Amino acid sequence: MIKFNIPPKTGKELFYMEQALKNEKICGDGEFTKKCNKWIEEETGTKKALLTTSGTSALEMAALLCDIQPGDEVIMPSYTFSSTADAFVLRGAVCVFVDIRPDTMNIDENLIEEAITEKTKAICVVHYAGVSCEMDKINEIAKKYRLKVVEDAAQGVMAFYKGKALGTMSDFGCFSFHETKNYSMGEGGAILVNDENKIELAEIIREKGTDRSRLLRGQVDKYTWVEKGASYLPSDILAAHLYPQLLEASEINEDRLQSWNHYYEGLKELEKKGKIELPVVPEECAHNAHMFYIKAKDLQERTALIAFLKEHGIGTAFHYVPLHSAEAGLKYGRFHGEDKYTTKESERLLRLPMYYQLSNEDCEEVIQAIYQFYK
Ligand SMILES: *Cc1c(COP(=O)(O)O)cnc(C)c1O
Repeated sequence: MIKFNIPPKTGKELFYMEQALKNEKICGDGEFTKKCNKWIEEETGTKKALLTTSGTSALEMAALLCDIQPGDEVIMPSYTFSSTADAFVLRGAVCVFVDIRPDTMNIDENLIEEAITEKTKAICVVHYAGVSCEMDKINEIAKKYRLKVVEDAAQGVMAFYKGKALGTMSDFGCFSFHETKNYSMGEGGAILVNDENKIELAEIIREKGTDRSRLLRGQVDKYTWVEKGASYLPSDILAAHLYPQLLEASEINEDRLQSWNHYYEGLKELEKKGKIELPVVPEECAHNAHMFYIKAKDLQERTALIAFLKEHGIGTAFHYVPLHSAEAGLKYGRFHGEDKYTTKESERLLRLPMYYQLSNEDCEEVIQAIYQFYK
């Protein structure tokens, strides 16, 4: 049995979690939270990184920091996880979904401008599979119309665009450390505050609307309620689970890339024969092998392939049901323009087993099974 996903483990998680317990400070912002924040800041170059309870809550913080008001419109792809939309919908925003590019499955940067109205407040892009959106173009549009930009970089830790870390090319970047992601604390995430002027507000929002962070820095002698906020701090025990994985991030990343390249090389022949399509990584993108997917001819062929691989003990998964066609999407959003690729491409896409320490043998077995299916 080859599982679709196994959460990352270095073997040092328990050691660090025990340290956290021994510190007798298992609430938020303890030793390991600070270490993780610092690691993210050094690795990505962001002005301020703050661990959160999830990628979803990092997105919620971003929506609060963008000061989204009821009726505001936020442009985003429909091909994404519900959290991307939830964060803004919770503030009363309307989602304006724009079609994706079939090559990267990312929002089509050339369709954003025509979706802008007087109500547009922000653009939230999603770096699917850790492959960056066209950030230069997107930021150019945002600047022209004075829009906020949020990067849902939940899948983008340790990935780059023209040498810049995903999550750092906008006002706010959001990472996820859910156990299905490349680095895990079970449930967790981080917000990257790239706008220096918003760092204090981010700290306040994360700490129940109080200026407790100022107190901890000795800037005030008592803390009070100064803004609206919530509780977005994870326990330090969870940060201690994540920390050793961040310390070994390069090894984990290399290992995943090796599996990704193995799949790519192994399946190239099938693509040449016109049977399947393989993922496209634009030249300016350094991805992180968050996932490996192939595209079958259509939904029917994909369904048969899933069943065939399951029979051979191989776990696979398709991905998002486009948000604009989902129950909540119909209520809280609208699709701008034509759905040329979102639905069609999402129905063809199939994710193959991908995790840290996936063996070469298992990789090969998956490749061979796919060849067998197409014979
Ligand atoms: C995983 C994911 C999220 C949510 O992250 P959680 O940590 O599970 O809340 C949001 N957006 C995208 C694109 C994701 O892949």
